[in-house]
Amino acid sequence: MAAPRPPRFDAAAEEVAATAAAAADWPALAAAATPCVACPELSATRQHVVVGDPPVRGRARFALIGEAPGANEDETGRPFVGRSGQLLDQLLAEAGLDRAEAAVLNIVKCRPPGNRTPKTPEVARCSGWLRRQLELLDPPVVVALGLSSAKWFLGPRTVLAGARGRPHDVGGRAVWATYHPSAAIRFGPNGAPRAGLLEDLTSVARSLAA
Ligand code: SF4
Repeated sequence: MAAPRPPRFDAAAEEVAATAAAAADWPALAAAATPCVACPELSATRQHVVVGDPPVRGRARFALIGEAPGANEDETGRPFVGRSGQLLDQLLAEAGLDRAEAAVLNIVKCRPPGNRTPKTPEVARCSGWLRRQLELLDPPVVVALGLSSAKWFLGPRTVLAGARGRPHDVGGRAVWATYHPSAAIRFGPNGAPRAGLLEDLTSVARSLAA
């Protein structure tokens, strides 16, 4: 049987991957990513490249990885600072997790117009930044927030309901897939996504304490 074809990357994705791989540390990577124009539509409409937050100190105990920045994130240049971020902070505290010990990142670093789902080529291009971020920060545990993030780690056929509730070994990291806080907001305080997100964050906290 013929060897499987490697995934097709376009020139912009290859350039991002090469530039990211050359970054020796977090400040170098942030400086390289900030002027990125690999995605023509996103780079024309964004205000900031939201590179992400490393942990406040030391190695990341875990990473929180969402889909893409929203309006507040685009405006401030920081990840998870809008309503979703506020709910995430509240649920992290309820679960016994400390955001200061986490890397807070997104699959795609620029806000898609109107908060549309990032397109496949945009995810492919931005993946070079995320891969290098994971190498540099080396979190042993990843919380994939929402389906886009879960698919990035677990594959395109991932179904959130089937992937939740247990860690998946991805390249030596324990990846937990759960709801995005925006789903928890959309379905309200008594909705299943809010309860599921808290349940999953609590499981992550337990696994980190074990
Ligand atoms: S989404 Fe990522 S790859 Fe695309 S322009 Fe922004 S930083 Fe570059």
